[in-house]
Amino acid sequence: MTRPLDNPGSCFVCRRSASGFGVHRGEQVGWMCLTCRDTRSGVIAMSILTQTFDQYERDALIYAGNEAGEYLDSLGTTDLSALPPENYQRFLEIVVNSFGEGMRHSLKDAA
Ligand SMILES: [Zn+2]
Repeated sequence: MTRPLDNPGSCFVCRRSASGFGVHRGEQVGWMCLTCRDTRSGVIAMSILTQTFDQYERDALIYAGNEAGEYLDSLGTTDLSALPPENYQRFLEIVVNSFGEGMRHSLKDAA
């Protein structure tokens, strides 16, 4: 993956909605959500090597997958097509939120 810069609608760290705050690197801007701004995750993410950022993304995806898998285990199924809509929405929320948590956790350790 590459660092998703210059997209004012999406936080380049966690992919949630950006809130109008950005960090610059040369001509490029990394737009951030409030959480990534307040935790300095965006500033740290912009300062690290692309290769390191990519590894953090891979780690965050694994973390998000594990968290979502634990949720499915708690429901007693791994069949997404069998989930009621509210459980499927909760599954997706866990994936998205856990990805951001994983990114911010890794970036905090990089500071
Ligand atoms: Zn964010």
